[in-house]
Amino acid sequence: MATQTDPVVKKVLTEVAQFNAKQKEKTEAWEEHLRQLAADYQDKTQAKDVAKQAVSAVSDLTHLNELIVLTQEQIKKIAANTLKPGSKKPIDEIGVLDYIWDLPGDRSWSSKQKEPFRGKALDYYRGRKVRHVWGTGQLVKIKNKSKEEWYGIRVVLTCIQCKKNKMTVYALPGCHVGAFCYIYDRSKKYLADLRNQSLVCDKCG
Ligand SMILES: [Zn+2]
Repeated sequence: MATQTDPVVKKVLTEVAQFNAKQKEKTEAWEEHLRQLAADYQDKTQAKDVAKQAVSAVSDLTHLNELIVLTQEQIKKIAANTLKPGSKKPIDEIGVLDYIWDLPGDRSWSSKQKEPFRGKALDYYRGRKVRHVWGTGQLVKIKNKSKEEWYGIRVVLTCIQCKKNKMTVYALPGCHVGAFCYIYDRSKKYLADLRNQSLVCDKCG
């Protein structure tokens, strides 16, 4: 099957060529940004090539800023395509939820201004089923006894020891963005990092 270069990527590369860097300078932030972009592409091999080409051609910060805007626009498109606004289909690429969790695409918003907007975005997708490594969960809003409101993916885990008792917990992303491997109880008490730990029920623990 033939692959086509995405129009936005094409535009990025054209701009890179136009700037025609005299001095090749890489910044870690830019590389990381492109790595993130590459991870969001379905065709990862192509995306990695594109990222490599773009990185090697970047030479100044003005250029970087322009490219970052373009790539963020692309991330928005990918997120919208994956999240399928208005649909009831389960969200099956959990990493894309980071987009609404911290809205990296909206550079014009200060982090304080972002908060209500982020809440709105999460509210919009509230109730949607989410598929991840522990089965099907649901994006929910939780209200603590202290009336604090927060969002999480509600999942039901089976105790790994007795393999019988079930535990309803809430998954959040953390330093491993996109993984939603950090597990909390309803009062937002941290329970485990399921990348490195397992949960057992009260009876077994
Ligand atoms: Zn158990």
